[in-house]
This record gives sequence, C-alpha cells and structure tokens, in this order.
Amino acid sequence: MTAAGRDEKSMKAGYFSNNGYIFKMLWRMQKGRVAGEFLYHSLNYIYWVFYDILFLQYLVEALEKGKSFEQIMTFLLLVMAGFAVPGALSAWYVHVYRPRSDADIFEAVNGMLFEKATHVELECYENAEFYNRFTLAMKDCEKRLAQIVENQCVILASCIASAAALYYMFRIDRFVILFIAGPLIGNFVFGKLINEVKFRMNKECVPCQRRMEYVNRTLYLADYAKELRMSEVFRVMKKLYEEGFQGVLGKIREYRKRKVLLTFVRNIFTFVVIFQGVVFYSLYRVMVTRSMSLSGFTVLFSAMTAVAWMVIQASDSIVKSYEDSLYIANLKEFLEYEPVMDEKQAGLLPKSCEEAACGGPVLRFQHASFTYLGQEEPVLRDISLTIDRHEKIAVVGHNGAGKTTFVKLLMRLYDVSEGEIQYFGTNIKELDLPEYRKLYGTAFQDYQVFSMTVAENVLMRSPEGEEDYRKAEDCLKRAGVYERVSRLPHGMDTILTKEFAEDGAVLSGGELQKIAVARAFAREYQIAVFDEPSSALDPVAEYQLYENILEECVDKTVIFISHRLSTAVLADRIYLFENGRIAEQGSHEALMQKNGRYADMFRKQAENYVGGMKGVE
Ligand code: ADP
Repeated sequence: MTAAGRDEKSMKAGYFSNNGYIFKMLWRMQKGRVAGEFLYHSLNYIYWVFYDILFLQYLVEALEKGKSFEQIMTFLLLVMAGFAVPGALSAWYVHVYRPRSDADIFEAVNGMLFEKATHVELECYENAEFYNRFTLAMKDCEKRLAQIVENQCVILASCIASAAALYYMFRIDRFVILFIAGPLIGNFVFGKLINEVKFRMNKECVPCQRRMEYVNRTLYLADYAKELRMSEVFRVMKKLYEEGFQGVLGKIREYRKRKVLLTFVRNIFTFVVIFQGVVFYSLYRVMVTRSMSLSGFTVLFSAMTAVAWMVIQASDSIVKSYEDSLYIANLKEFLEYEPVMDEKQAGLLPKSCEEAACGGPVLRFQHASFTYLGQEEPVLRDISLTIDRHEKIAVVGHNGAGKTTFVKLLMRLYDVSEGEIQYFGTNIKELDLPEYRKLYGTAFQDYQVFSMTVAENVLMRSPEGEEDYRKAEDCLKRAGVYERVSRLPHGMDTILTKEFAEDGAVLSGGELQKIAVARAFAREYQIAVFDEPSSALDPVAEYQLYENILEECVDKTVIFISHRLSTAVLADRIYLFENGRIAEQGSHEALMQKNGRYADMFRKQAENYVGGMKGVE
C-alpha cells in the first residue's frame, strides 16, 4: 500500500476515536459548552426549517385562502415574540458565554500540555518526530478543541434538520425526495474525493512550507539578526525560500486539473441536479398535470434549497472533522505518552552530603557509557571515576570530547546506556529525581536568560521580601557582577532583555554568564557544576571567576568543565576526556610531570596566550 493510502486508512480508523476523545475531554472540562453548542446549532436549524417551510407554507396558504390582514399580522407578531427569547439567548451565548468558555478551555488545555511537557525527558526534544508532534499538538490547540465539538454539533443538528425538511417534502410529493441523491452523491462521493486530493496536496507541500517557515523564522528571531546583517547569508536564505515557494507552486499545478474537474462534477450533482430537477418536476405537476398547488410548489422549492445547503454544511463539517482527527492524533499521542524517564519520578530521598559524610565518595561512575538517541557510536565509553566530598574536579578536553554529556548524565538529564552512576552508593535512578536535582547548583554554557528581573533571573522565582533581595545581591556579588547590576536603572528589579520593557537591560555575554553563575549560587546546592559558563570572558577574567567560585565553594563539591587549561590548574583533580574516554587523570602537577597529552595541551595553550594571538585557546 502507498504511504498516502496508509494515511487515509489510518485517518478513517482514527476519525471516531479521536473526535470521541476530544468530545469526552471537553465534556469533562465544560459540560455547559458542549450542551450550549448543541442547543445553539439546533436552534439555528430550527429557524431554518421553520422559516423555509412552515412559515412560508402558512403565508402562501393564507394568501391563497384569502385570510385577513389582521390574521396574518397576528401570526407574524406571534412568530416574532416566539423567537425573541431564543434569539436573545443565542446572542448572549455567542458574545458572552462562548468567548469566556474559549478562554477557560485555552487555560485548561495549555495547563495540561505544560504539565505534560515538564514530565517528558530531555531526549524527546531531540527526537525530530516527537518534537514535530509536540509542536503540532500545541498549535492552535484550544481553538481546535472547540471547533471539533462545534463540528460534531453541526453534523448532528443538520442531519436532524435535513430529515425534518425531507419529511415535509415527502408529504408534498413522495418522489421528489429522490432528488436528494444529487447533493448526497455530490458531497459524499465527489466532495470526499476533492478532500482526499487536497489532503494529499497539503501533505506533499509540507516539506516545502517548512523551508519557507524556517526562512521566516530566521528573519524575526533576534538570534539570527547579527549574522544576517553582517554576511551574504540572506541570499542563501532567499534561495531556500524560493525553492520552497516553487515547490508549493509545483504541487498546486500538479493537482489543479484534478481539483477543477472534481469540483465541477461535485457542483453538478450538489446544485444542478436537485435545483433544476425539482423545479422542472414540480412545475410539470403545477402547470401540466395540475396535481400540485402553488403553495406546495413554493414550499418544495424552498425546502429543497434548505436541504441542499444543510447537506453541504454537514459534509463540510465531516471533512473538517477528518482534518481535526489527524491533528488530534498528535495531541492524544503527546498527552498519552508515558515518559521512559519521568521528570517528576519519585524515589528514595537523597541524603545531604553532611548526613552521608562517612559514606564514601559523593559520586561514582561505574563503567558508564552513553549513546544519544539515533546515534550508533557511544559518545561516552566505559567511564569509571569517583568524586569525593568537597573535591574540586576539572573536566577538560577538546570540543566534542563528551564533557557536557558527562555532566548531563550526572544530573540525569539523560540516563546512562550502560553501567551506572551512584550518589553515596545508591544508583541515582532509584532516587527521587526532583530532590536529586536539587542537590546541584549549575551554570551551563548554553544558559538562558529570561525576560524577567535580574533578581528573578538569579532566584528563578519572584523575590518575596528583603531577605530574598539580600540573597540575590549576595549571589551577584559572589559571581562578581553586582557592581554592574547596581548601575542598572532599577537595580535588581531591572528587566533583562528589551522584549517587554523599553528600559530593559541588555548586558554583555560575559555579564550574563556571571548572572548564570549567581543563579547557581542561589540554590541550596551540595554539588556545584559549571559547564564553561565563562566562554565569553577573557582568560584572566575567567581565571578570576573560577578563583571566586572555588573560594565560595570551599565546603562544597565542585565540578567544572573548561577547555582552557589555565583554570584547570585550580582543581584538586583533573580528568582529561578524549573521544568519550578518560585519557588521563590526576592533579595538574602530576599530569605535567607525566608529560603526556595534558601537558602537551597545556603548553600549547600557554604558548598561544603568551604569543597574545588567540588567547589561551
Ligand atoms: P563537549 O562538551 O566535550 O564539547 P559534548 O558532550 O557536548 O562534548 O558532545 C559530545 C559528542 O556528542 C559530540 O560529538 C556531539 O556532536 C554529540 N552530541 C552532543 N549532544 C548530542 C545530541 N543531543 N544528540 C546527538 N549527538 C550529540
């Protein structure tokens, strides 16, 4: 079977279960909305059937039978009065109840998605397929949920109303309802074929549209702004966009003949067959055989038009539901995904380093290896090491040696593929994950600064009083950036970035890195981990920062990563990583004496520094 064929099959299979899933979800969230939506659409169809058939029939018959003006006016006034209350209720539902309910659904659904997103492991974000599903699940989610319920209500209400209109047509002439076969064939056979073609075309356009979206994104994201202005790369981007655009045009061209032909045939069946057929047939009865009254003809004509449009609406809603069902499949899969490593995993509470002081090394890697998802080669192989309480460890090595991965494994951002990591002798997989992570104060090289105040960026929560401000100040001082922060317009209450605040502060890379270090200090940590949060600093400033850090962390275990060996000198023990293995280990002095890879690297970096060409790199 072709891929397109498989998709269509799975689409059909998922139609009921996916739409049912959302229907149930919304019913649990907001019964009032589901009931309201059904009543609102039913009322609209009642209006439709009433005005197109009963109302018209009464008026034509009243005129035919010569009823008085007062009688007709009384009927009109009664109708108006009868619809006044439901009309007012409809307006209230559309303008008051529905927007409020949309906002509640938005909040509830995003709450569910955020909650789920915090439970799934980091690895999921690196899995392109999972990530695509996640972004699709998030896209217009709340609008779509309401739309799904609306579609179901339209389908139900329009089917009931069509049946009622057909009943009236049947009462006037039992053969005339055969003409309904026209719109049914038009919409459900040719309409469906059109939608299948559209679905296939849209799907084939996606890779091209993704190129265009990528180019759009690079234009509005600040991250790309500098490179775009300082180079010719925009030409390449433009070419990429053009390729995507041409791809979309190509698909439109490829499918347009089929779409035009199918639309033409659908319109013949949907409109021409029923409209012309019923008109000719009933005119024949009125004028030739004289077996139908003028009122019968009028009502028949009006009912037929109503039925044709109702069938169109029902079939449109069914098509939309098919599309939604595909989208819902992503949402459902995301919400029902069971993380392999639950980010909120409960387990043994880790002891603090003080409590477990006599329990051997704080951390132990035992033959730990790790391979990233989708990769064949492990990036860390057979790592065995121990880290003692209050020890200062430097992990050094060239780019790509596996240093960051080592730290990620330590903090259980990923789980080892082989071997194990122990915290005071307990496999870290058995520990309560949020509590285990609380042991760490960390600053990553790819730290993020949030559009929040400096104090919030340090504490990673809102400060709750003077004490919190003092704490943030203290951490900023220890990271060596308080003096700069105190010169900002609102001090620690200055918002970082100008995204939401005109007077927001734009700090240099090095200053922001120091804020990331202050953030690490603000946690009640036992083990400090610094993954090159100093790359934007010059070697001297970096050396000073690490000196500060080590002074601050005398009574803590510290692990820091650096590819500048000048800072590694400060560590008690150095691990040199090469190709995912520990190539050498020992103190700076011991490694220099050994005169191996580390000593070689150290001398080369020192030469560069002394030569003043590239800094100590
Ligand atoms: P270092 O910190 O020493 O520069 P890393 O631990 O970041 O090295 O990376 C080690 C290797 O793993 C590199 O070859 C890198 O390309 C690869 N790698 C890092 N992250 C991922 C990932 N999420 N998926 C696949 N490969 C990765």
